[in-house]
Amino acid sequence: MAFNCKQCGTCCMYMGDYIEIDREVRPFEFECSSVSTGTPFYATVDEDKRELFLDLTWIQEHPSACRFLRPSREKIVCTIHMTSAAQCKFYRCVVFRVYSKKRMLLGTVTGTLALHTGDKELQSAWEKVDRIIPWDTPDVEDRIAAYLVEQGYIPE
Ligand code: SF4
Ligand code: SF4
Repeated sequence: MAFNCKQCGTCCMYMGDYIEIDREVRPFEFECSSVSTGTPFYATVDEDKRELFLDLTWIQEHPSACRFLRPSREKIVCTIHMTSAAQCKFYRCVVFRVYSKKRMLLGTVTGTLALHTGDKELQSAWEKVDRIIPWDTPDVEDRIAAYLVEQGYIPE
């Protein structure tokens, strides 16, 4: 299932200690480190986000946020989208949402394939996923979705 990032910024709000700027090489270009993986990366502020990046008002009010995060109208965006760290590119907060037949939202499945739900029946159905679908199968997400459909849920 294709993941569609809504650019809400939530996942980057506490990344200030994890995405470190080591050195400004020249205007809008930085040597950085991804602290959790110990991986260096070279960041260039996207050309269309340079004005946003230079406005420090919001970021100074949010000291825990990643230094490259900025508000842009109703969104909160990464200003180094083109050159962000590998784990930022692959991060998916939600693979799909799980609805009842009456289209009530019951839970979400994260990019690490963890279910978040307060619904006991869905939780119980999910516990069987572990036993019937191998996690290392390449089409695991599609198979989980198909299983949920069989159980009467709508994964989207
Ligand atoms: S990955 Fe998810 S939490 Fe992060 S900005 Fe996109 S929609 Fe928001
Ligand atoms: S580099 Fe971009 S995507 Fe990664 S944590 Fe910072 S703002 Fe978020």
